[in-house]
Amino acid sequence: MKLKRIILFTTIIFIFTINSQIINQNNNIKNPPYISKSEFVFDTLVSITLYNSSNEKVLDQAFDLCQEYENKFSKTIPSSEISIINNSHGQPTKVSTPTLELLDTAIYYSVISNGAFDVTIEPLSSLWNFKKHIVPDPIDIQSASQNVNYKNIQLNFLDNTVTLSNPDTQIDLGGIAKGFIADQVKEFLLKNKIEHALINLGGNVLTINNKPNGHNFVIGIQKPFAKLGEIITTHQISDKSLVTSGIYERYFENNGQLYHHIIDPKTGYPCETDLYGVTIISKDSVAGDALSTICLIKGLDEGIAFIKSLDDISAIFIDDNFNIIYVD
Ligand code: ADP
Ligand code: MG
Repeated sequence: MKLKRIILFTTIIFIFTINSQIINQNNNIKNPPYISKSEFVFDTLVSITLYNSSNEKVLDQAFDLCQEYENKFSKTIPSSEISIINNSHGQPTKVSTPTLELLDTAIYYSVISNGAFDVTIEPLSSLWNFKKHIVPDPIDIQSASQNVNYKNIQLNFLDNTVTLSNPDTQIDLGGIAKGFIADQVKEFLLKNKIEHALINLGGNVLTINNKPNGHNFVIGIQKPFAKLGEIITTHQISDKSLVTSGIYERYFENNGQLYHHIIDPKTGYPCETDLYGVTIISKDSVAGDALSTICLIKGLDEGIAFIKSLDDISAIFIDDNFNIIYVD
């Protein structure tokens, strides 16, 4: 049951491989052309496939790396660096370099989105309980909103400390951490001489090059609100990241109203948007993760303009009539 729930909560992206090619390659048992492993990390399914490699140790170490980052970035693990910052009562907290780097990146996306993305969304995101399906009290939403402001985070790169100038401000890296970790996994695999790989962190898909047979990876994008596995379109990538955010991923209905998990920091409520989903194709997955969330909040017209203003980013928007709009 838990497994099913977790799968449904995950951004759903299906990866199609050239099946016949893989079947043929599989017959070569002595020198397996690819190895693959899937595990649940950060409440989501993580799958990593290494092509032209039988290096199980590197594969295991890639999962260890995911776990290591989860232990730093999770807001629910009490010993994580983020939990320690969130409980610091405004005192400076010493953190590791990856945490400082990710916070810096998250603040960058908060700034360029004009606060649509706000890494201090925690007081609001924890108020919205998608397990209990309860709409929070408007008074609680209003008071939580007052503590959401990324400008309350101060980073000190000289002594690696993070300080919350408002002690009730709280950090939630849920909208960006998976992208950052996917990028770190890719870097680790590259250092270990892996030349072709597919990394999927709960829908944050990132590849090293193409497949060894010269084909691109073909990624299927889930049709919003449809049966799991029903795709609306596909997109081919090589050495790129593809990340989807959708309002159909985690939501509940109450009195005919749909409440989903992307919160508009300005209202404290799930963002009102004419989009069902946004897929970002970029070099780095951290960019894709933040930008897909941002575009959902901005909506179709503003989202298109925003993507056009950025270099080397493409997007696939799915609007609330299931139209597919490709933007380069
Ligand atoms: P998912 O991780 O579920 O695939 P997203 O990358 O779009 O989807 O991130 C959604 C998560 O981001 C939420 O669960 C919450 O933790 C966080 N979040 C929600 N609204 C915002 C926001 N406006 N700014 C930053 N983070 C947000
Ligand atoms: Mg995101």
